Amino acid sequence: MQNKADGCCYLCARLHGIYDRQDNLQEHHVIFGRANRRLSEKYGLKVYLCLHHHTEGPEAVHHNAQLRQQLEEDAQRAFLRTHTMAEWMSIFGRNFIMSDSPPHLDFKPKSEDLGITFFEEDRE
Ligand SMILES: [Zn+2]
Ligand SMILES: [Zn+2]
Repeated sequence: MQNKADGCCYLCARLHGIYDRQDNLQEHHVIFGRANRRLSEKYGLKVYLCLHHHTEGPEAVHHNAQLRQQLEEDAQRAFLRTHTMAEWMSIFGRNFIMSDSPPHLDFKPKSEDLGITFFEEDRE
């Protein structure tokens, strides 16, 4: 989902449009749980987060269920770019894309070279 070389926090970028390089980013496996951590690794469903967005504070994914769900949905959308829904369900067993959630209000398209894969709506 994100190229580590970016050096920015996925959620700082995603939520606040801040793409600054930061030190001390922590790796976060988006679909967690014992087996899922390995699967997140295998399919690259992980992001790099600043402390504030990882474990400390109100926007930390480990405390904020809404943001966690957002990341899970992002991860699934990333996966579905190159795999089918049937594959997702057979591997992860759960659909994280909430049909009633508004489509990525905060989505800010950024150039590819930043290496962050945000999940734009399909444009055929
Ligand atoms: Zn952050
Ligand atoms: Zn984490």
